[in-house]
Amino acid sequence: MLEREVFPRFHIGESQLPWSNELFQALGVQEKIAAAGFVKKWGASFLALDGGAEQYADFAQAVETPAPQTIQVPRARFDHLLLEHSASCGADVKQGSLVLDAEFAEDAATVSYEDKDGKRREVRVAMVVDASGRTGFLARKFGTHQADPVLRNVAVHAQYEGIPRRDGRRAGDIRMLTRSDMGWIWLIPISESVISVGAVIPQAVHRQESRPTPEETLEHYIKTSPGSRPLFQEARRITPARVDADYSYLGTRLSADRWVVVGDAAAFLDPIFSTGVLLAMQGGIEVAEAISAGLREGRLGAPRLPPFPAVRGGLLRPRLSRPLVHSQ
Ligand SMILES: Cc1cc2nc3c(=O)[nH]c(=O)nc-3n(C[C@H](O)[C@H](O)[C@H](O)COP(=O)(O)OP(=O)(O)OC[C@H]3O[C@@H](n4cnc5c(N)ncnc54)[C@H](O)[C@@H]3O)c2cc1C
Repeated sequence: MLEREVFPRFHIGESQLPWSNELFQALGVQEKIAAAGFVKKWGASFLALDGGAEQYADFAQAVETPAPQTIQVPRARFDHLLLEHSASCGADVKQGSLVLDAEFAEDAATVSYEDKDGKRREVRVAMVVDASGRTGFLARKFGTHQADPVLRNVAVHAQYEGIPRRDGRRAGDIRMLTRSDMGWIWLIPISESVISVGAVIPQAVHRQESRPTPEETLEHYIKTSPGSRPLFQEARRITPARVDADYSYLGTRLSADRWVVVGDAAAFLDPIFSTGVLLAMQGGIEVAEAISAGLREGRLGAPRLPPFPAVRGGLLRPRLSRPLVHSQ
């Protein structure tokens, strides 16, 4: 496994869904996740423009939800835990390794990468999985990320302290404030004191409204969302603000002989329902099953992949055909 960063590293995407619990179990990582003490999330609140009316979605009441509770995670810690778990299961994890290209022949693929000392290297493999997130190194080599015409959004986000929370069971819930321009603001508690705050804004609005710096832009979007007033009176930003642009999209080619694309590299859906990590993990597991079967049968042509849930509009629920076997 080649990863260009050295973990822990920042990543956006903190709010999880209850279906992830079954995937953690399939991966044998649920005990490590439980021991990490991530913030508990029991549901989501959607607040009206003025912050007055609120619609609450409680996972305990939701249709087809396998468990009433999930987690909110600082991705730096969560992703690091998963990376170390994959190494403990036998994956050869090379951090600080930037994948440059992949060449395909009938009997193998050759991946070239720059290692952590800046040295160019090659590795011969049976199959390449592009899990490079929005980089999509194979998705864009053989196809393109086709932007969704409706969900053309930009996000500006940072972490804050001093935002009041609800009491008790709902203290860890995600809150979403709607805006009149079809944008929205998220508030995701990621520790006892820190809340991740982001504004998702249509690109056309952002072009008119953005300010000289990401920090000023985020503060402008918060101020112009009337429902935020009571929440931000004592709020302090504790990190620089970041901008994520160019979404949502769908990759035009997702697999062929000896390569396959999963997660954000394949498709990215607007984050309003916190689906990204779940779909990436589910896609990863389904692809791993297909490759594993191909290795057993000595047949690693275009794998017969199960429908990619984000692409074919399948139900957002894990469809593991059988428990994964993993070695510790
Ligand atoms: C604004 C915003 C808010 C979001 N909020 C949520 C949320 O609340 N909940 C949720 O579930 N999802 C959310 N998401 C989506 C979530 O971030 C992604 O869906 C998820 O991280 C996808 O996982 P992945 O493994 O496919 O890609 P990533 O998590 O991006 O991982 C890809 C990895 O590949 C590495 N890489 C990239 N290129 C190379 C290369 N050439 N060589 C080697 N390594 C490489 C990167 O360093 C990275 O570690 C949000 C996304 C955005 C933009």
